[in-house]
Amino acid sequence: YAPLAEIDPEIQNIIDKETWRQFSGLELIASENLTSRATLEANGSILTNKYSEGLPAARYYGGNEYIDELEVLCRERALKAFNLDPAKWGVNVQPYSGSVSDSVGALLVLTCESMLDCQVCPKHILIRDISHHVTDSFAALTALLQPQDRLMGLGLPDGGHLTHGYYTAKKKMTASSIYFQSFPYAVDPTTHLIDYAGLQRQAKIFKPRLIICGASAYPRDWDYAALKKTADAEGAYLMADIAHTSGLIAAQTLNNPFEFCDVVTTTTHKTLRGPRAGLIFFKKDGPNSQDLEKRVNDAVFPACQGGPHNNVRTPIFLGFRVHADKKPYQTIAAVATALLQVSQPSFKAYAKQVIANAQTLASVLIEYGYKLQTGGTDNHLVLWDLRPIGLTGSKVEKVCDLLGITINKNAVSGDASAQTPGGIRLGTSALTSRNMTEEDIKSVAGFLHRAVQLSLFLQKEAGSKLLKDFIRVATTEGSAGAAQVKE
Ligand code: PLP
Repeated sequence: YAPLAEIDPEIQNIIDKETWRQFSGLELIASENLTSRATLEANGSILTNKYSEGLPAARYYGGNEYIDELEVLCRERALKAFNLDPAKWGVNVQPYSGSVSDSVGALLVLTCESMLDCQVCPKHILIRDISHHVTDSFAALTALLQPQDRLMGLGLPDGGHLTHGYYTAKKKMTASSIYFQSFPYAVDPTTHLIDYAGLQRQAKIFKPRLIICGASAYPRDWDYAALKKTADAEGAYLMADIAHTSGLIAAQTLNNPFEFCDVVTTTTHKTLRGPRAGLIFFKKDGPNSQDLEKRVNDAVFPACQGGPHNNVRTPIFLGFRVHADKKPYQTIAAVATALLQVSQPSFKAYAKQVIANAQTLASVLIEYGYKLQTGGTDNHLVLWDLRPIGLTGSKVEKVCDLLGITINKNAVSGDASAQTPGGIRLGTSALTSRNMTEEDIKSVAGFLHRAVQLSLFLQKEAGSKLLKDFIRVATTEGSAGAAQVKE
């Protein structure tokens, strides 16, 4: 039990540097947040030692009596955090993360059912034949299956996520496009709002079995009622991936997808402010929900995952750990701790402030004369279109890095290539976790304005070669190199 600093000072040193980076700079990446100390403590618990494949009371290993107790508690907290009736909704709290299991797990379970239903298509019959081998891992399904059922998700260049069926003209890049036939829907090219009517028209032709809503870079709220209408008309499932906005939805500051969707997935580390993990909620009482619980649970384990990461999801009492004041404390493993905090009134205030801060950021940037996609935001993120001023997102991202402002380049609707995106995405979740309010955010907007002006100066006034040198030296030699170039 020697501490990390003693056993491995090199790793400790890297962690210390990253800690300094996170707290000395301004964190504006919309998919990140600063989780609480309690959640961090829970994440680093002795629970990481335990194997617990299976579900409470049905495990493949012994010694799981406390893990069972705690997984049940975590589920209860997840349902409570989103105000869900346990008679109507269930949740699987085991997914390691968003991409690997939460979206893929849900995709698998939803589409498997229609594959099993299909009596005529030879490919589907192949899947029928191997379906009893579902106890093989997802890797085995990966090896055996061909793209089959149809799904529609928001296209990546329009703000959708990779896991929603993304592929390029050259390549099917994600499990969701490799194993399923996907067709993206889009935002309206003028307003940049979801084109619900277009989706309805395309769905009529494409006949998806699953429609996914939710995004990584969409600053507006969703019309779940309209999506449900389209899904019902085509006999499709409706799934919301609320990875980005789940904290805001739990705090009831955005529309509620649970009223309309069959399955809702989320990561736990964005606006929900927990550790890195995922949750899959499934409806228990709708017309589409027959057997959904079993299919979701089977899709998580064994189809996609092995042993759950108990340290991130379940609570434990560690009697032998003591605080500085020598009192034993109860450390609750990370997702459960975060969910406990989400249910408290202070989280509602946090979520409201996140949105107020994002809206302030948007309006100050607009006052400076910049163009934002959709002209503002309803949630925690702002999508800044840099194309009108002739900059790319990657240049501004690099310059901001050197200034201690962390942002990310992002495609904006209409970009020719996702590799050289024309915008940046900003989010206010982390700064709000540092108790920043509108006045602070106005200063942050001022810093961003200056960073963009610096990028423009380097590119336009001083010639793009200087900007390239600046970025090259900064990238290869760190901020010392950048200081040299600045001189
Ligand atoms: N879904 C959405 C909408 C996301 O934005 C992300 C990540 O940014 C994910 C899924 C994937 O989550 P993870 O990175 O935990 O795999």
